[in-house]
Amino acid sequence: MTSATVRMSHGSGKGNKELLETVVFPALIPGGVGTLEDAFIFDIPGRRFAFTTDSFVVSPLEFPGGDIGKLAACGTINDLAMMAAKPILLSVALVLEEGLDLQLLAKMLRSLSAVCSSQGVRIACGDTKVVDKGKADGMFITASGIGIVKVGISLSAANAKPGDAVLVSGGIGLHGITVLSRRANLHFASSAVSDCAPLFGISDALLSAAPFTRTMRDATRGGLAAVLCELAESSKVCIMIREDAVPVPAVVRGACAFLGMDPFHVANEGRFAAIVPPEQAESALAALRAHPQGRDAAIIGTVAGPGKFPVLLKTSIGGTRPLEMPPGDILPRIC
Ligand code: MG
Repeated sequence: MTSATVRMSHGSGKGNKELLETVVFPALIPGGVGTLEDAFIFDIPGRRFAFTTDSFVVSPLEFPGGDIGKLAACGTINDLAMMAAKPILLSVALVLEEGLDLQLLAKMLRSLSAVCSSQGVRIACGDTKVVDKGKADGMFITASGIGIVKVGISLSAANAKPGDAVLVSGGIGLHGITVLSRRANLHFASSAVSDCAPLFGISDALLSAAPFTRTMRDATRGGLAAVLCELAESSKVCIMIREDAVPVPAVVRGACAFLGMDPFHVANEGRFAAIVPPEQAESALAALRAHPQGRDAAIIGTVAGPGKFPVLLKTSIGGTRPLEMPPGDILPRIC
């Protein structure tokens, strides 16, 4: 069903899928889209590249563990990293609201630049637009990136096969709970720190240890649930997850219990899921755990043949329930 106007629920989960399939893709790509990946892969003779873009509208602009600048660099770098690409170039487009403090703007841009420097990424081009007060919320950033794909690696969301192992790189939900707690002054979650971080180092370590990895995806909007549903649907398989095996930090567990939210639906900016063939699962896990960002990494489930639901969760009390995409944007403006 196509609605007459854009709703907040179009921002992620099922609502976002509906917006893309009914309005965006038919208008932009009338020939139809293939498998949706984190970045577009293309060849220039002798080299394979990845190309991606992302917009950042997080509110508030600063939060424990990050800010909109760090988020823009990490989010774009991570979509390249998830396609086995070493990020090399970034474009940065700014929409600035009249009245934005110039010192704050400089701080956000230094933060973006620091991530790029640490990752060997060059900021190659950009754009700046200013809009009237009240027409934007401080600042929005759009960043596009290009990376060079690791030789011999071929990843796709359509590659998962029955028998594969499903891994997560660390505890889930910290980014979403951190931004929400700062926005809503939730004192019980004030110790939360965002997981926002560039993932190329840890994802590259995983690929070196498990070169037959099928696919990776950073668990951003819609959380781990949305990512697992997307991967299962693209590969036409059912993913079986053991709830007990999924690392959920205590502050996330507590906040979600209080707010009636599912930690699987909460956004991350420095966590990813990987699907690897069974014979490489242990080496993949060891590589993740050996990295400072992956100490809490875990094997959380397995891939089965197609079923009634894309993702099934074996709960800690012994039952089984479908793990679904969040219906819409339960936490808007999180990235
Ligand atoms: Mg992504």
